[in-house]
Amino acid sequence: MRCFFIVLLLLVPGGFTSADQPKPVFGSHEFIEYLPGSLPVVIGAPHGGSLKPDTIPERKEGKVVKDAFTQELARLIRDDMEKRFGAPPHVIICRLHRSRVDCNREVAEAAQGDPSATVAFNDFHGFISRACAAVEKTHGAGLYIDLHGHRHEQELVEVGGLIKAAILEKPDAELDAGGLVARQSSLRELDRRSPQSFSALLRGPQSLGGLLEKRGFPSIPSPAHPSPGKNDYFNGAYDITAHGSREGGTVSAVQIECPFTTVREKPESRARFSAALCDALEEYFRVHFQMDLKNLPGRNK
Ligand SMILES: [Zn+2]
Repeated sequence: MRCFFIVLLLLVPGGFTSADQPKPVFGSHEFIEYLPGSLPVVIGAPHGGSLKPDTIPERKEGKVVKDAFTQELARLIRDDMEKRFGAPPHVIICRLHRSRVDCNREVAEAAQGDPSATVAFNDFHGFISRACAAVEKTHGAGLYIDLHGHRHEQELVEVGGLIKAAILEKPDAELDAGGLVARQSSLRELDRRSPQSFSALLRGPQSLGGLLEKRGFPSIPSPAHPSPGKNDYFNGAYDITAHGSREGGTVSAVQIECPFTTVREKPESRARFSAALCDALEEYFRVHFQMDLKNLPGRNK
């Protein structure tokens, strides 16, 4: 019996006891998994699931291809942030395959009338709302990241903030004029908080795209890629509209779309990207939120 416990302790990573491990909270049928955190960061992975239960029919309309390895990437980012900042972000994962529910669409398209898929959709968004409320209460403001994967020809990390490609073609002065474009963005409240201009928050050297690009992951928008031109670009969808600050609140949001071969495909590239994102977020929070992720008051640890 004693040997059994010694083996168990050795298996727990980092030498922590099981009491320190995050306790996941599950929605109905364990289709949605919520890993509570204590940083002002919430990460959702709506398209990384693989469960295809017979009890939920295949969706008949809309995209049904999963974003491969985004669930794994979200869990890795959580672990890396905990190691780096001493506390984890909140993570919400849809474990259902996209052919059963698409949590990044309005409920009618997401669940297509199936009762179990509708419950999963509500669980996913309920957990994100709960996490964002905890962030607002503890830290006053924060960031929701909706994590995806794309297969566009250009292998860029695409950072979406609800600003359409045609608007990104305009010069910085037009993006900043009168705050009109910022008000359409899921970064609306962060724009008020940040000492930098909206165009700088969106695509300057210390924008999320700019910071990732500097760390080896070419991104759009960024100083090197200010607009997509004729190339495909995802500017964000339901999740960052529902949970970002365009409609109010102090949690702003971005959709991060990761290319396949340079970010998602191999464990080594996922590890490099996760490290780059953690590093980028530390600077992003220091500059725009004026928060030090390594030294935050009010968190659990
Ligand atoms: Zn996706």
